[in-house]
Amino acid sequence: MKISEILKDKRSVSFEFFPPKKQESEQVLFETIKKLRRYNPEFVSVTYGAGGSTTEKTLEWTKRMKEDHDYSVMMHFTCIGADAAVIDSATQSLKESRVDNILALRGDIPAGTTEFKPTKDFQYAADLVRYIRKTTGDHFSIGVAGYPEKHPEAGSMAEDIDNLKRKVDEGADFIITQLFFDNFYFYNYLDKVRKAGINIPVVAGIMPLVNLSQAVKFTDMCGASIPKPLLEKMEDKSLKDQFEIGLDYAVKQCGGLWESGAEGLHFYTLNKHGVTEEILKRIF
Ligand SMILES: Cc1cc2nc3c(=O)[nH]c(=O)nc-3n(C[C@H](O)[C@H](O)[C@H](O)COP(=O)(O)OP(=O)(O)OC[C@H]3O[C@@H](n4cnc5c(N)ncnc54)[C@H](O)[C@@H]3O)c2cc1C
Repeated sequence: MKISEILKDKRSVSFEFFPPKKQESEQVLFETIKKLRRYNPEFVSVTYGAGGSTTEKTLEWTKRMKEDHDYSVMMHFTCIGADAAVIDSATQSLKESRVDNILALRGDIPAGTTEFKPTKDFQYAADLVRYIRKTTGDHFSIGVAGYPEKHPEAGSMAEDIDNLKRKVDEGADFIITQLFFDNFYFYNYLDKVRKAGINIPVVAGIMPLVNLSQAVKFTDMCGASIPKPLLEKMEDKSLKDQFEIGLDYAVKQCGGLWESGAEGLHFYTLNKHGVTEEILKRIF
C-alpha cells in the first residue's frame, strides 16, 4: 500500500532495515523481522548502499519484505551510484513486484572522500524525485529526507528548508527525518516546515543511543547532537547501565513525540530488534 495513503488515515510505526552482507547476518535479520512483526508496522524500508554496490541486494530484500512477509515496503534510492538506466530498471522491477514506495535520496558520500561529486544524471534528491515522477507518474508514493538539525552541508536551516520545498514541489509526498535526540529540534523544525508551506506528513526518524561509543559515531555521521545531560549520565557507567539509561531516554523521547501527535515514528533498527522492541513495549 502507498505510504501517502496509509498516512492519510493513521500515524505510522515503521522499521528500517539494511540488506545483510553475510549469511549469518541474514539470520539476524530474519529473527528481527519475526520479533518486530507483532508490532504491526505500517511499513518497513530497505536502505540502498552508496556506491551502487548493493543495488541488487536492496531490490532483492525489498521484494522479500513484500512477498515473504507481506509488508508495505519502501525501497531507498540514491543519486550516488545510480544513473537513469539503473533507476528505470529498478522502478520497473518494483512495479512488477507491486512495491509502491520509494525514498528518494542524494546518498551518503562514499567513505574516504569528503566532497560530493554528482553523477551524470542526478545531482540532488530533488532531481531524482523529478525523474521518478516524470517516468512513472503517480505510480509510487515518494518520500524524501528532512533534517531537524539541518543537513551538515547546507549553509543554513533556511537554505535546507528551501531544498526540502524543492523536493516537495517536484512531487514528494512525505518526509522522514534524520535521527535526533532532543525533541526540541523536531518541534522547531516542524514549525519551520509548516511555515514554509510544506503540508505533507513528517515522520520522525528514531535511533536510540544506548552506549557512549555510538555517540561520537552519530555526531560524525550525521551531525545529530547528543544532549549533555544524557552524555553525563552515561559517563563512567558499565555497558549494561549505559544501555538502560539510553533505553529509558529513548522511551521518554518516543513517548513524548507520540503524545504530541507526531505523524509517525521510523526506527533505524540496524537489523536488531532489542531496543526497538523494548521501546514499543513500553510506550504502547
Ligand atoms: C530517513 C533517511 C534514510 C536514509 N537512507 C539512506 C540510504 O539508504 N542510503 C544512503 O546512502 N543514505 C541514506 N540517507 C542519508 C542521506 O543520503 C544523506 O543524509 C545525504 O547526505 C543527503 O541526502 P538528501 O536526500 O537529503 O540530499 P539532498 O536533498 O539532495 O540535499 C543534500 C545537500 O545539498 C543541498 N542542496 C540540495 N539541493 C541544492 C541546490 N539546488 N543547490 C544547493 N544546495 C542544494 C541540501 O541543502 C543538502 O545540504 C538517509 C537519510 C535519511 C534521513
